[in-house]
Amino acid sequence: MKKKEKPVTRNNKLSTPNLKPLLAVLKAGKTFCFTGHQGPDADVIGSQLALRSLVKWVNPQAKISICNAGPVPSQLMYLKGIENVQNVTKVPGEFDVLVVFECSGADRTGNIIDFKRQVKTVVNLDHHLHNPNFGHINFVEPSTSSTSELVFKIFRAAKKPINKDEAISLYTGLVADTGWFRYGNTNTQTHQIASELLSAGVDVADLSERFYLSRSEAAVRLLAYTLEQMKLYFDNRLACLKVPIEIFKKLNAKGDDVEDIVNHGLLMESVQVSLLLKERGDGIVKVSLRSKGELDINLVARAFGGGGHRNASGCEFKGSLDEAEKQIVAELEKIF
Ligand code: 5GP
Repeated sequence: MKKKEKPVTRNNKLSTPNLKPLLAVLKAGKTFCFTGHQGPDADVIGSQLALRSLVKWVNPQAKISICNAGPVPSQLMYLKGIENVQNVTKVPGEFDVLVVFECSGADRTGNIIDFKRQVKTVVNLDHHLHNPNFGHINFVEPSTSSTSELVFKIFRAAKKPINKDEAISLYTGLVADTGWFRYGNTNTQTHQIASELLSAGVDVADLSERFYLSRSEAAVRLLAYTLEQMKLYFDNRLACLKVPIEIFKKLNAKGDDVEDIVNHGLLMESVQVSLLLKERGDGIVKVSLRSKGELDINLVARAFGGGGHRNASGCEFKGSLDEAEKQIVAELEKIF
């Protein structure tokens, strides 16, 4: 007789941390600075714009600057309020509250602001492993898919109904960090939040066209080049993709044109880890790592002073592209 299958039980409840101290700071501050990790991505910017809207609702007099070290990716121009997001090398002035988005450590901001001298209260919003809780207030949940999910929970705690523009910002961050709900960080909570954002007016097909099917010619040609040159190691279990600076320049590519290339290294069934090395042109190679299943490439990124998550991490390597390949492949060999 066929054995009756046990039902799979999952936790369907949104975790509800105590966000009262955080809300009190958002309500009381007069001047705010929001910053995220260097080279801000869709989750950083989506969650910043949504939180800006929430702070304006709970604290209408608040003055909010959004300052990141790096430009807004061109695909994100559809986000409401995007003109408020500045690319700076130093933040001028002093603030009651600094909200730091998606930084696994304080230095990930690119040191554009002095936490001690320019700011009274630091709020740390993050979902990375090993975040050292560097804020006065830390809302850090490594089990959460994205900073956008954290900001959704702040909306809940503030009892603010989510409007369509806020929903689009949060949904953008959510799909960016979960690879449109494909990565292991996607769980019941993620889908529950996504469902609420759809109810608030997100049009998925429209968003997918604006955000996903809107790459530049340079981005697509760069992808074609790197895949053409792909090297395989360890019985085709590691794919290594490289972006030399001269190719980047020849194609007239921009920083965010490299975004997502690393994920294509995982397309082959046998490949367990994808390594992308991008020559920055200042003696630094930007390293991106992605893995499937249990393979923890965070260990490898940390060996080179970087960080991230088990299946998605990164670091910076000082040296040439070939030297980076040699040393990082050697480190990766240890986890295979
Ligand atoms: P990406 O490969 O998309 O740049 O980053 C993947 C993950 O690794 C992200 O969570 C990102 O925050 C983290 N990450 C990327 N580069 C660095 C780095 O240089 N240092 C640290 N600590 N984390 C990084």
